[in-house]
Amino acid sequence: MQPPASSTAIAPRTIAVIGAGIVGTSCALHLQRDGHAVTLIDPKPPGTATSYGNAGAIVTGAVVPNSTPALRRDIPHMLFNRDSAVRLRWRYLPQLSPWLIRFLLAGRDSRVREISAALQPLASRAYDAHRELITLSGADGIVRPVGWLKVYATESGFAGTEYDRGLMRAQGVKVDILNADEIRQLEPALAPGFVRGIFQPDSAFASLPAKLTAAHAAQFQRMGGTIVAERVRGLHPAADHVAVDCELGYRRFDSVVVAAGAWSKELARQVGDRVFLDTERGYHLNLEPGEAGELRRPTVFADRGGFVLAPMQDGIRLTSGVELAGLNAPPDFARIRRLIPKAQAMLPGLSDRVTRQWMGYRPSTPDSLPVIGPSPHTPRVVYAFGHQHLGLTLGPITGRQVAALLGGRTPDFDLSPYRIARF
Ligand SMILES: Cc1cc2nc3c(=O)[nH]c(=O)nc-3n(C[C@H](O)[C@H](O)[C@H](O)COP(=O)(O)OP(=O)(O)OC[C@H]3O[C@@H](n4cnc5c(N)ncnc54)[C@H](O)[C@@H]3O)c2cc1C
Repeated sequence: MQPPASSTAIAPRTIAVIGAGIVGTSCALHLQRDGHAVTLIDPKPPGTATSYGNAGAIVTGAVVPNSTPALRRDIPHMLFNRDSAVRLRWRYLPQLSPWLIRFLLAGRDSRVREISAALQPLASRAYDAHRELITLSGADGIVRPVGWLKVYATESGFAGTEYDRGLMRAQGVKVDILNADEIRQLEPALAPGFVRGIFQPDSAFASLPAKLTAAHAAQFQRMGGTIVAERVRGLHPAADHVAVDCELGYRRFDSVVVAAGAWSKELARQVGDRVFLDTERGYHLNLEPGEAGELRRPTVFADRGGFVLAPMQDGIRLTSGVELAGLNAPPDFARIRRLIPKAQAMLPGLSDRVTRQWMGYRPSTPDSLPVIGPSPHTPRVVYAFGHQHLGLTLGPITGRQVAALLGGRTPDFDLSPYRIARF
């Protein structure tokens, strides 16, 4: 069990947040607003790593973990199919095995139900948490409440979602099941032929995720927060402070938040905490809209390749599935480029002109739950990473809980499912 917030509170005055993605920046902004002296440390400008290139969906009904009984059944086929949504670079298998075994074990029905219940308090509050930070930053015109849509070209594809829909029902997620006409009314620019849709009307869309993080970082600075463009090499907790080994020397803080996304494992290890964290790499292509009609929201073509088309401010963003290859292998854009004709078939008129290709690193735990909470070794180090496919969705709500922990307030809900000691 997580100790109550009041017993972990140490009334810090100086706090370092390591990592300026959407998660770290949200933590930093909340903490700065609480009156702490916060330093956000990252060699890259805020929001330019994984938080740059996602599909922009803020999914308030995201209660389906990545590993499920169906995935356990399908994964051998997926790994050997050249065009499936999941790709494993086989050379990486020995390193990945401990994570992969736990990932598959997390797909047991009983465990999936527990994980789903643990995702609910985070996801259901996600949009409200975004609104709170947007109001603070004045970052209007980026996030719109347009919902989250998955479309199916076959009845059998839709029927395969019964298990996932059962999880959503159990967690009280509002879901509309659409027929072909209703899909056309929502998204007239899509090709005809989609027979079923799953629509979550309470979800939202960030039409330029990097701009959102940058706006929060700018507000953080306006409120007196400091940004340091250095890489953290090491963390050394002591009784009355934490020494942070930065590129240009040591800095001393009362507390540290580790929010370094897929790169957080080594920092946790230095504090004495073991975590199963790997990366589910993902790609995007930015396409010129060409002659396509208006796409109104991010749309998943669930049984036509599992990719997403999202109408970003700078083009139509095509995002792909998962590549298991670790942090160091070079990107391979061949697979996502093969999706261009499929995307054009789904959104007639879409140009094949690619204005950007991008790869990012989803920070993923095997049980699809983030790590949020203090180190068991020292309350001076608080973790906020491992948000897998949902970091944009869950960044602001995570920041709110981290600020509660470091401010001696009770978090909005029980954080024990996210504790690092579960590994
Ligand atoms: C293709 C794709 C589509 C996605 N679509 C969605 C979506 O629609 N909705 C959604 O909710 N999520 C989505 N995601 C997931 C989401 O993008 C991630 O979960 C999220 O960006 C993770 O945010 P983060 O702040 O934890 O990590 P990052 O954005 O990766 O930030 C981590 C930061 O830590 C810094 N860092 C690392 N090591 C150090 C160090 N030693 N010292 C200092 N700084 C360090 C890095 O430079 C980086 O800036 C998608 C991801 C991908 C790849």
